[in-house]
Amino acid sequence: MTSWETKAAEMVEKQIQARGILSERVLDAMRAVPRHLFIPEELRESAWADCPLPIGEDQTISQPYMVARMTELLSPEEGDSVLEIGTGSGYQSAILAAMGAVVTSIERIGSLAARARDTLASLGFAVNVIWADGRERIGCAEVFDGVVVTAATPAVEEWWTESLAPAGRLVAPVAVMSGGERLLLRLKNADASLTDTWLDYCRFVPLLGGTQTGSVDGACQ
Ligand code: SAH
Repeated sequence: MTSWETKAAEMVEKQIQARGILSERVLDAMRAVPRHLFIPEELRESAWADCPLPIGEDQTISQPYMVARMTELLSPEEGDSVLEIGTGSGYQSAILAAMGAVVTSIERIGSLAARARDTLASLGFAVNVIWADGRERIGCAEVFDGVVVTAATPAVEEWWTESLAPAGRLVAPVAVMSGGERLLLRLKNADASLTDTWLDYCRFVPLLGGTQTGSVDGACQ
């Protein structure tokens, strides 16, 4: 049996480095996080495949390359605070935490939030998973060095941009006229002006309004 570490190293080489991701810190994190543990048991054999996979509730864990690409665009430094919208399996949060980021992640589906919390805690990642609608301001006074949105959004919510610290970065798949989404990298400059760059075309599950059962659980720390 090939160990998961070997499969992770192969995934990084063939799917991620081969497509031009250069950041050693991103590559190291992708090698170090056991992706198979974020996937339902019956699909674990496919954990390292070059595609998104179902995680229940009609949601998916993103393709490894897309996780690496968004993480490289965000490029959190050790100790940076990052807000994620769309926890899903918790895998993207784990990659950010493995790079030393302090992660808060919001998920609208209660069962996914609970499972991601358990998976992350069992691996020793101290991620704050909040069960809420990430389109709505969650009352965090905190500002974040990075914001990453991992569901297709029709627009960038104002509070995401407002929550960015000076020199902060936001990465989000924003719906475009031609269908599908395009990755937006938004930089907040020192004078609070914004610089937007439009990058890869991509496909994500949609950002939906409200929490699945109309409840919230968890808070800013
Ligand atoms: N980052 C995830 C993949 C996310 S899939 C991972 O690494 O596995 C997108 C997730 O966004 C889904 O779990 C979906 O339920 C969640 N989502 C959709 N709309 C949302 C909203 N308004 N607020 C918070 N989460 C949302």
